[in-house]
Amino acid sequence: MLTIDRVACAGHGMCYATAPELIDCDEEGDPILPDRQLTEEESARARDAVSACPERALTLVTAFA
Ligand code: SF4
Repeated sequence: MLTIDRVACAGHGMCYATAPELIDCDEEGDPILPDRQLTEEESARARDAVSACPERALTLVTAFA
């Protein structure tokens, strides 16, 4: 699951520019994250988005069963 620190987020949009199939944005330019566990393929894209965030506002949380 992707989580975001809304205080740290500065709205650059690098995350949804990097992974638009996974991260949407609202009309104010704030990211909208998928509210669910991600598939393996989605997690790889999420890692790209996390790396692209200059504010380190995104975190990929991995659940272990
Ligand atoms: S790249 Fe980071 S700072 Fe920019 S909108 Fe996405 S989460 Fe926010």
